[in-house]
Formats: sequence, structure tokens, C-alpha cells
Amino acid sequence: MEKHHKFSIWYVLLGIWVVLIVHNIIFSAMSIETISYSEFLEKVEKGEVTEVAITSNQIQGRMITGEGEGKKLFRTVRVDPDISEFLSGKGIEFKGEVESTFFRDLLSWLIPVFLFVGIWYFMIRRMAGQQPGFMSLGKNKAKIYMNDDLDVTFDDVAGVDESKQELVEVVDFLKEPQKYTRIGGMIPRGILLVGPPGTGKTMLAKAVAGESGVPFFSISGSEFVEMFVGMGAARVRDLFVQAKERAPCIIFIDELDALGKVRGLGLTGGHDEREQTLNQLLVEMDGFDPQIGVILMAATNRPEILDPALLRPGRFDRQVLVDRPDKIGRAAILRVHLKKVHHEQDLDVDAVAAMTPGMVGADLANLVNEAALLAVRRNKETVGMAEFEEAVERLVAGLEKKNRLINAKERETIAYHEIGHALVALSLPGTDPVKKITIIPRGIAALGYTMQVPTEDRFLMKKTELLNRIATLLGGRAAEALIFVDISTGAHNDLSRATDIARSMVKEYGMSEKVGQVYFAREKRSQYLAVPEMQGAMDYSQTTAELIDSEVHEIISRQYAVALSILEQNRSVLEKGAALLLKKETIEGDRLKQMLEAKTADGEPS
Ligand code: ADP
Ligand code: ZN
Repeated sequence: MEKHHKFSIWYVLLGIWVVLIVHNIIFSAMSIETISYSEFLEKVEKGEVTEVAITSNQIQGRMITGEGEGKKLFRTVRVDPDISEFLSGKGIEFKGEVESTFFRDLLSWLIPVFLFVGIWYFMIRRMAGQQPGFMSLGKNKAKIYMNDDLDVTFDDVAGVDESKQELVEVVDFLKEPQKYTRIGGMIPRGILLVGPPGTGKTMLAKAVAGESGVPFFSISGSEFVEMFVGMGAARVRDLFVQAKERAPCIIFIDELDALGKVRGLGLTGGHDEREQTLNQLLVEMDGFDPQIGVILMAATNRPEILDPALLRPGRFDRQVLVDRPDKIGRAAILRVHLKKVHHEQDLDVDAVAAMTPGMVGADLANLVNEAALLAVRRNKETVGMAEFEEAVERLVAGLEKKNRLINAKERETIAYHEIGHALVALSLPGTDPVKKITIIPRGIAALGYTMQVPTEDRFLMKKTELLNRIATLLGGRAAEALIFVDISTGAHNDLSRATDIARSMVKEYGMSEKVGQVYFAREKRSQYLAVPEMQGAMDYSQTTAELIDSEVHEIISRQYAVALSILEQNRSVLEKGAALLLKKETIEGDRLKQMLEAKTADGEPS
């Protein structure tokens, strides 16, 4: 297309040039002599003019030349007769001038032609749309960005080694799709990056594109929500068409949750546009042939609200956790960003990392920047520890306000809470071994966690095991109550899980003597049906309902008492463990077990 319209412009220029030449040739070939009007009058007087042709302002004719060489063509411009008479009377030579309108005429048609050609050229450029870089596909807000040569590599994303590990295979596939398709291996199709904001999900997706050298299309889920009906779906279709043309490539959808929330059941009206867009996305995901090498990546910090349809096999069936970095990870991220600023050679990066618990990659990038600005303000050549200390203080204050960072007091509460869980779990028989305890905020809701890994798959649970599990869940709250008296909201998830188990014991497993071996869980609804509680759906009496409630209550409070007494007996280990956890952020379950055993061996009263 490009070639074609360039030629057309040349045609126009060539045409103009030809007209000019022809115009010149004609006039010079005719070799008409131009004479002044006074000379013309003179010749008429002398009788030398033999014939004339008169137009509105010119006179052409033939005249006899002096030496009898025959007749000659001449031309003159007419002058107002009154003036010419007057001038002739005074014997002045005079001539008329024709205003040349040639260039004016030429311009009057050249300008529209150029305008027309210009507009045409501009429209073709826009339609072509194949140019790399930014492009806007239509009039609405959802912009598709395409980048051909990203220079982001895995080295730029630090402290998320486990997530990187999982993406290496994708890079491998994008580099050599044939290798995989030949063997017929399972090709990744949709990868969901899950983690809190600022942990580097976008960066990771870009790094995958950068490492494999393929184009990167990105679009944000939240932009779809404000769109006119039908536009979102069209945009999704566009996106896949574009991507397929450029395969192998990566499509990245940021904020997938804005677009991919669970679809409503028509009870609340729902957001039709969003649902249409989501449906279109599902259709496209199912429709494309994975062999062509289009990989869909998406980021979310709220995977729990996503429509389950998105997570089915063949869609976003692979999830990669991009979690908050631990101390070592933070140091690595700081080192990446420190490369860009002049800093003191002996700056203790690990010490800076220790000052920044809970911060994510984006916060750390910001921190380095802030420290550099402080150094500039202090007229220093390099950034040092003093700047970092001050920058941390400023940043922490800001982040605490935004509730993203846990202050010292809260960290202490969380440490006791987690050690509480762990100690109860370690003290009761038949609970899953404690692997790891951490106060690095993990995932979305938990501020810390105690990781218990079952040693085997379980299909049956004994009553005591369920009770011990409840006690373990209540251990966090019990520790808070024991140490601080004032309890926190941090246990709400524990309480809900403990209550669920207790309720199931009473209603489903027949484990309550008072209620008996009866199954009362019939009204349980499908987990995705968000239908409001319906009256009369229960298949038991009000009295039974009250009995169930009181039994659940009974189980919970008895297990809480168990947890509390374990912690009271091991208070010294609780305190030592919490102190260690505060210092290290993460400790192994075995370490706590040793502390517990050491105490028992010391023969302290138990
Ligand atoms: P997300 O997509 O998870 O919200 P981004 O990838 O947009 O986070 O990260 C925002 C910025 O924070 C990046 O441009 C980068 O400067 C910094 N950053 C975040 N995570 C990391 C990391 N793991 N390593 C280095 N820099 C990071
Ligand atoms: Zn807890």
C-alpha cells in the first residue's frame, strides 16, 4: 500500500512539470515579438501593421518589418485609449502589462490536490496500523499496547526465583515452538500470575517476552468495565486477531479480576458488558490453536473472586504465585535498583533489607529513588545508609497510612499469634507437622502463616484429629489473649475455619452426642450459587437448630480452653519463639520443636 500511493504523488508532480514545459515550448516556438503599445500605435500610423486580432486586453497581429523580409508576428497589450492618446500626445513610450494569472491559477488547483492527497495519505497510514509501538484500535478507552523489543530480562526481576523457575519453560516454548509441537507436548496456554500489587507481575510477563524475543501485547482488565455495550467483546476479538498475526507472542491482561469476576446469576442484574467481554475472552481462549504460539498471561491480586470458568483446564490452568519477597529477596531487589544510582561502596544492603519487612518490589524501587533524592538534597556524591534510614522512615509512614505495611506493634501481635498456632500443633498428637512459620505477609488475607504439611493423604479423619485441628486454629487467638489480653481481628479466618469444622462434626459426621448420628446438611447449596438464604429450606426443626448451635459453641470453647492451657504451660517457649520469629521473619518448624523439647528436658514445670 505504501509503495502505491507514493507513486501517485509522483504522477501529480510529473503532470505539473509537463504542463509547464509545454506552455514554454508553445510560446517560444511561435516566436512572437512583444512590442509596446506606443510602438504598435506608431507602426499603425506608418501603415506597417497588416492585420490584427483583438481580445479583451491583447492585440496580436502581423506587421511588415523594415528590410522587406516579409511579415512578422507581434503581440501587444492594450492600454486604455484615453491614456494612450494623452501619452502619445506627449511623445512618451508606453506599454500595457497583463497581470500574469498563471501561478495563481496553478495554485488554485494545486492546493486542493495536495490537501486531498495529504488526507488520503494520513488515512492510509492509520488504517495500516501495522507499525510497531503504540496503537489505538478504535475510539474507546481500552488500549492495546504492543511492544516489539522489550529489553526486560529475568535479571531485572529479583527476589521471585520460584516464580521465574516456573516461567522458564514458557520462554523455552516461545523460542522454539516447533520443538514442542513436534513432540506433541503439553503447551502452556494461560498463565495466571497471582500476588499482591507491586511484586513484579507485569515485569515478569514482560521479562518472558523479552527473554524469548517475542512481541508483547498488553491490555488492562479494568478499562473494559467502563465501555459501551459490545465494545469490550469486540476489543477482545481484535486483540486475538492481532496477536495471531504476530505469533509467537504474549498477550498480557493486567487486573484480570476487574474483568473476570464471577458471573452473576441474573439476580442482581449484573454488569452485562463485563460478562459479554468475559464470555468473549473464554470463547477466544478455547478457540485458538495452542500450536501457533500465542501465550496468554494475566495478573490478579484477588484470584478468589475470579470466575471458576477462567481457571478450567485449557484456560488459565497454570497459576504462578508472585509473593512478597523475604529478606533475601528484598536484598536482591535492592541490588537491582541500586545499579542505577551511585551508592557508597560499602553500603550494607542486607541491613536495608532488614529494615523493610513487608515491602514489595515497587516499594523498594521507590525507596532507592527516595534515598537518591535525599542524597542530592544533601549535596552528596553517593547514597549512604543515612539516606536509606530516613527514606525508610518516610516510606513506612506513608505505607502504614495506606495499610500496606505492618507496624512494629502489629508485627509483634502477628508473631505471637503464629507461634501460638505452631505450639498448639506441636503439642497435640495427630496434627500435621509444622514446617514453617512466617510473619511475612503472604498471599492476600493472611498477615503471617503457619505452614503445616500433611505427611500422607487423608481420606478419613478421627474425631480427636478434628478436635485437635480446631484447637490449633484457635491457638493464634489464644496466644494473643494470653500475652496481650486485648485481642485482634487477625483471627477471623481461623475462627471461620474452626467453626466450619465444628459445624460439620455436629451436622454431617454425627460426632455430637446430644445431636446424635443424624445428617443435617441437606440444605447445603452449590458453592457458586449466591442465592440468598431461603426461609423454610431447612429440613430440621427450630429446636434442633438451637441444639446444633449450642453444640458447635461447646466444641469451640472446649478446644479454645485446650489451646489456652497448652500455651500457658509453655509460655516461655511462646515468648522465645515469638522473639526469634520477629528477628528472622521466617523460622523452621523444627527449630520451634527443638525449643519445646529443650524446655521439657530442662525439667521446667509443665
Ligand atoms: P505488579 O504488576 O505486580 O503490580 P510491577 O511489575 O508493575 O508490579 O512492578 C512495578 C515496579 O516495581 C517495576 O517497574 C519495578 O521497578 C519494581 N519491581 C517490582 N517487583 C520487582 C522485582 N521483583 N524486582 C525488581 N523490581 C521490581
Ligand atoms: Zn491465625
